[in-house]
Amino acid sequence: MRQIDLLWELQGLDTRIGELEKELAVYTNKKKLREIKSKFDREKALLQRDEAALKEAIRSTKSNRVKVEELKYNFEKTEQKLYSGEVSNMKQLEGMQKNLEETQRSIETLESVYGGYKAERARLEERVRKSRAKLRKYKNSFDELKEKYSEGEIRASVEYDDLQKQRQELVKKIDKRILDRYNRVRHGVDTAMVMIENGKCNGCHMEVSVVYSEKLKEDVMVNCETCGRILYPKK
Ligand SMILES: [Zn+2]
Repeated sequence: MRQIDLLWELQGLDTRIGELEKELAVYTNKKKLREIKSKFDREKALLQRDEAALKEAIRSTKSNRVKVEELKYNFEKTEQKLYSGEVSNMKQLEGMQKNLEETQRSIETLESVYGGYKAERARLEERVRKSRAKLRKYKNSFDELKEKYSEGEIRASVEYDDLQKQRQELVKKIDKRILDRYNRVRHGVDTAMVMIENGKCNGCHMEVSVVYSEKLKEDVMVNCETCGRILYPKK
């Protein structure tokens, strides 16, 4: 095998190793997981606030009902007494009449607020229901992604370790001088080696001069004179 073919193989390994490093960084970073978690936490805080408000709305509705019942009971009692004939004192009768009117007004006021309490309660119940559904959804996607990440991490790590071993073996077969040259170019551009297609460098698409083409035929390693990449002639 020509040195340049070994180098081409090395580049294939390095490309894949680079991809795996990026993939593994995603798993380590867990950005998406943290995003879901913070959405979950925000929603949870909203839910807690709404649940507290709902509890309060239920309490207000109940106490409103209790007050109305009490007033209605008092109203009936007073009314019964007023028309029973037991009381004949005019002043006392007037007082009772006034009391009835006041009670009636209070009942009406409480009845009108009751509608507001009921609507508020329904609104909060709906919000709490939606919030709980959202939380379940976030929880599920978090668990799914976590599972996917741990599976992906194992798979990528295994492949990564395997490729690193292959790379170590391959590197032993390549001349140090050639390897240095590859590393130098590689640090400047993403792909250090490119094929020549139709007489053009596949990295920068500039014509490869005749002189270079001749050299390539002699199995001499040549860099593209425009972009500096190592040219790989097709076998
Ligand atoms: Zn080029």
